[in-house]
Amino acid sequence: MIINEVYDKLLNYQSILTEKFKLEEKKSELPKVLSSKNEVLNRIKKAYLSKYNQFKKLEENINVYHRRMNEMKLKQQELEEKTKFVKSQREYEALDREVGQAKQREDEYQFQLMQDQRIIEDLRNAIENYELSMKQQEEEITKETERVDSEVEKIKEKLDELKGQEETIVNDLDEGFRYKFEKIVKNKEGFGIVSILKGFCNGCHLVLPSEFINKVRSGNDIYFCPYCSRVLYYEETNDNIFALEEEEMDDDEFFEMDD
Ligand SMILES: [Zn+2]
Repeated sequence: MIINEVYDKLLNYQSILTEKFKLEEKKSELPKVLSSKNEVLNRIKKAYLSKYNQFKKLEENINVYHRRMNEMKLKQQELEEKTKFVKSQREYEALDREVGQAKQREDEYQFQLMQDQRIIEDLRNAIENYELSMKQQEEEITKETERVDSEVEKIKEKLDELKGQEETIVNDLDEGFRYKFEKIVKNKEGFGIVSILKGFCNGCHLVLPSEFINKVRSGNDIYFCPYCSRVLYYEETNDNIFALEEEEMDDDEFFEMDD
């Protein structure tokens, strides 16, 4: 294979890989939106559950207060019934005191009952709001899941398409070289093969020795930048040739070799 064909293949391969990496990243990012929505839902559920438990406990308390109030009412009735049959003033006063005590306890229970009823009303509202939020959040998650699934499906289709293109390009490249090149493209933000420009590597912008540039120019092999590991190719542009000749003038070693 002529070296220029290899360069063309690598440039092509590089743009496929760049698209592939972008799509793969998007594919892994997409479900994260869902997980944050699920976290919100879990927080609402937790808050809802805590209010719901409080509500249940108060409901129980209120039932107890009702029962005790009724007990006190009954007791008062019984005591009042007894007063009809008392024989002495002392007996009457004792019963009357007991009635008073029962009434007082009934009032206390009623006071606590009313307090709890106020709180339970607030809780009922809060619970209704949480139920509404949960429903909304669940609906959103369902919609979002559908969207994410369909996006992921589209990405998978595109990736399959790219895989096909990739295969036709790389089928005659060496497996080890292919793996190495893919890693360079990934690590160097999509630029695994760059040109030499005016004596510099166009990837890391460091000056390359003219001897090395000549090797790349000869096209006998594939060369990697000694500084950034990118594959280098040489373009026969006026700028490049001028830069190389200027460099050669200062390069004694090159002249020695030439003689
Ligand atoms: Zn470089």
